[in-house]
Amino acid sequence: MSKEIKTQVVVLGAGPGGYSAAFRAADLGLDVTLVEARDTLGGVCLNVGCIPSKALLHVAKVIDDAKEMASHGVSFGAPEIDLDKIRAWKDKVVGQLTKGLDGMAKMRKVKVVNGYGKFTGANTLQAGDTTITFEHAIIAAGSEPVALPFIPKDDRVIDSTGALELKDIPGEMLVLGGGIIGLEMGTVYRALGSKVSVVEFADQLVPAADADIVKAYTKFNSKNFNIMLSTKVVGVEAKKDGLYVTFEGKNAPEKAVRYDKILVAVGRKPNGNLMDAAKAGVNVDERGFINVDKQLRTNVKHIHAIGDVVGQPMLAHKAVHEGHVAAEVIAGMKHYFDPRGIPSVAYTDPEMAWVGVTEKEAKEQGLKYEAATFPWAASGRAIASARTEGFTKLIFDKETHRIIGGAIVGINAGEMLGEIGLAIEMGADAEDIALTIHAHPTLNESIGLAAEIYEGSITDLP
Ligand code: FAD
Repeated sequence: MSKEIKTQVVVLGAGPGGYSAAFRAADLGLDVTLVEARDTLGGVCLNVGCIPSKALLHVAKVIDDAKEMASHGVSFGAPEIDLDKIRAWKDKVVGQLTKGLDGMAKMRKVKVVNGYGKFTGANTLQAGDTTITFEHAIIAAGSEPVALPFIPKDDRVIDSTGALELKDIPGEMLVLGGGIIGLEMGTVYRALGSKVSVVEFADQLVPAADADIVKAYTKFNSKNFNIMLSTKVVGVEAKKDGLYVTFEGKNAPEKAVRYDKILVAVGRKPNGNLMDAAKAGVNVDERGFINVDKQLRTNVKHIHAIGDVVGQPMLAHKAVHEGHVAAEVIAGMKHYFDPRGIPSVAYTDPEMAWVGVTEKEAKEQGLKYEAATFPWAASGRAIASARTEGFTKLIFDKETHRIIGGAIVGINAGEMLGEIGLAIEMGADAEDIALTIHAHPTLNESIGLAAEIYEGSITDLP
């Protein structure tokens, strides 16, 4: 039987952007309907992204740490891998969080409609057999993995969602694309026993990050992965005994190489073209992105858009903050989205994390800046953890000495980054950071010490 709903705010898509917008709008007293095509709330991030990947990376870390302990006098023996149990544990983590969202929606009386929503007019939407009439809409439709047309359709060619299913542990695996998602999943499969090769078209892995950060990561991982930079895949032939891949470029193998599985991780494309946005008068560009202003408004005043569908960086926390702003603007608050820095973290081993302006961006923008770096070879905590490959870098405005960016490579870099983000948002200068007493011995000390180096009060580093 068809249903009709009249609502003040309809939110299309229940990922981090959508559920955050819906919950904030409901908390501000608005009547909200949340439309989601999946059976569970949470979008890509909770179901097939951030959360399951981190559950598997936790497994990988314990395996690696246990192996490493042998050189410090404790041997655990070879790990016994039970894929069914690992998968069940990952699914339990996901289930706990998505169910938590159900409860949060109920508590706020947010109506959840299960179905693929499409606009039928400027104030109407159809999701399955439900017709929704709305005053305001927030499009939070997210993104999906990019597929490469020249690669044959084959069960052994997977994307990030397929990789998270963890069907088996391939002997030889090729990760096509050396960005964050490819490297994170490569880390998981490598720890579980696969021999992993990574091919990247650019001359460094994670092209968005500063070269020095990535260099430290790449050096540490040269024994873990076969890394082919400045190289591209030009053909894949699916044969019975494997996938034969031909390469071109600086580090291309001469002959086709056989792999058991290929993980295609070459980026994500926005879902803007799939919901008949034109019927509501909303402009979507040819790639599927929806253009918005600082209040996350589309070209149609009462329709907002947030998250991956509005552009880079495609990150969950960016979607959440945009969702909050969109809901607050609809509720009549004078807010806008203008962060000084959106943190980026590769949860690899070691982690790579950066926030604010990178050195690369500072150069491109012609900013007058200075950088100070504290090498972890001089950190007591890093030495005690046998992980001295990292460093902490702070980037300052040359005139005001205010911090404008920072990057860390090393274990726990993602957790440490928050302090730098806060310093940037608060307009802290080098002296503020240097005078902040950091606990000893922590890796966080390296942030204070980098500021001290910049101030000139440390000059005797190794
Ligand atoms: P999404 O999470 O993509 O959610 C959109 C939802 O809308 C989907 O559930 C979809 O089914 C639904 N939808 C779309 N169109 C319609 C429609 N017309 N009707 C009804 N429903 C619709 N980001 C991080 O910040 N940290 C990480 O560690 C991280 N790890 C990741 C790991 C992987 C493997 C992947 C793939 C991504 C990762 N990301 C990470 C990125 C992160 O998942 C996204 O940036 C985030 O999910 C974007 O949120 P969103 O709300 O814009 O959209």
